[in-house]
Amino acid sequence: MAVARAPPRLRSGKSARAFARAQRILVGGVNSPVRAFRDVGGTPLFIARGRGPWIEDIDGNRFVDYVMSWGALILGHAPPEVVTVVQEAAERGTSFGAATEAEVELGEAIRRAMPSVQRIRFVSSGTEATMSAIRAARGFTKRTKLVKFEGCYHGHADGLLVRAGSGVAAAGLPRSAGVPGSIARSTIVARYNDLDDVVRAFERHGKDVAAVIVEPVAGNMGVVPPAKGFLEGLRALTRDHGSLLIFDEVITGFRVGRGGAQGRYGVTPDLTCLGKVIGGGLPAAAYGGREDVMSVVAPLGPVYQAGTLAGNPLAMAAGLATLRQLRESTYGRLEGTSRRFEAGIRRAATAAGVVVETNRVGSMVGLFFHEGPVTNYADVQASKREAYVRLFWSLLRRGVYVAPAAFESIFPSTAHDSAALDLTQRAMDEAFSERGP
Ligand code: PMP
Repeated sequence: MAVARAPPRLRSGKSARAFARAQRILVGGVNSPVRAFRDVGGTPLFIARGRGPWIEDIDGNRFVDYVMSWGALILGHAPPEVVTVVQEAAERGTSFGAATEAEVELGEAIRRAMPSVQRIRFVSSGTEATMSAIRAARGFTKRTKLVKFEGCYHGHADGLLVRAGSGVAAAGLPRSAGVPGSIARSTIVARYNDLDDVVRAFERHGKDVAAVIVEPVAGNMGVVPPAKGFLEGLRALTRDHGSLLIFDEVITGFRVGRGGAQGRYGVTPDLTCLGKVIGGGLPAAAYGGREDVMSVVAPLGPVYQAGTLAGNPLAMAAGLATLRQLRESTYGRLEGTSRRFEAGIRRAATAAGVVVETNRVGSMVGLFFHEGPVTNYADVQASKREAYVRLFWSLLRRGVYVAPAAFESIFPSTAHDSAALDLTQRAMDEAFSERGP
């Protein structure tokens, strides 16, 4: 076994001071909980700048970034094509709260890639997209219940912050204080990749189910691909029961291929939620789908939904510039990069005698300290969180930044070049051998 070099120490004085100050004004020092590093301990990095695959913190440490704004930055940080159009858009005015042509163009570009999106509505966050899609589904079907899956995250709307009750396909219990039980109970939680569980849910609640919402590739419990026939089964079940199928493609949209997961797996949902990549790193998200369903949304129909900054010109410009870069050949290269990255993790782990499992769909990579396949939330829960935390710090000290929490997706981008990948491989080799079997 190779003897690991002593890892360099991180400079952290400025980030520590910034965090102390932040905690006196921002809740927990952050604006989204995972950024506080509670899962990994220690001081969160305060980021100064990013370029390509790199980020630099305010202490001057540089890292190869695999968080990439949680998957939003498929082209890496500050790609010139995006920065230029955002600058130009800003010169023309940052927001009007009125119609602009860029919204139409981005909508059309999305429909060309994802033909199921016949009509679309832009919003500002993934949370708004899923919340609004569910409201539209309820308005269209005139039903109330929702089926979601254990381990899938769809943003923080009340009805989505639920965990499974006792037993399978159970009505949900609140997973957050502040969520009324009455709302959580209208969400039924089923097991991912377990069609029988969904069948049971439909047997009990079929005529009340407005929609099934699913991450077609789960990206919020590490990465868990859909089992063969799972998405097809959800399609058939929802169709048979007059319910709608909602694909939450906030992560997978324009990431696992130009046509998203629906293109990759050839299953067509009624409604699709998008976010992250379509905003090119600015706040944009969307929901859309069948024309008859989307026609229930105001101003055409009785389901109300609106947004002051929805379709924001800077976000639309960034999204359009990003989608223009994403050709079939781009996905081919990204696939190659991601395959190399995944193989590198396995090689490093094997050399050090560490048991890991990886799942990968396109440029979504999941790493689990688990023996055997990871196909659902129970498998994810059975993998070792502490081992991930140790790896996180070992990698960070060697200049590689992965998510500061276990069970998140790792996101290579088109900007991850050989220099970044070689550094990552050295860091992986050393981190795993430092840790030992
Ligand atoms: N859906 C999925 C699949 C997500 O991964 C996320 C966020 N990670 C959301 C919805 C919520 O998006 P946002 O954080 O933009 O509200």
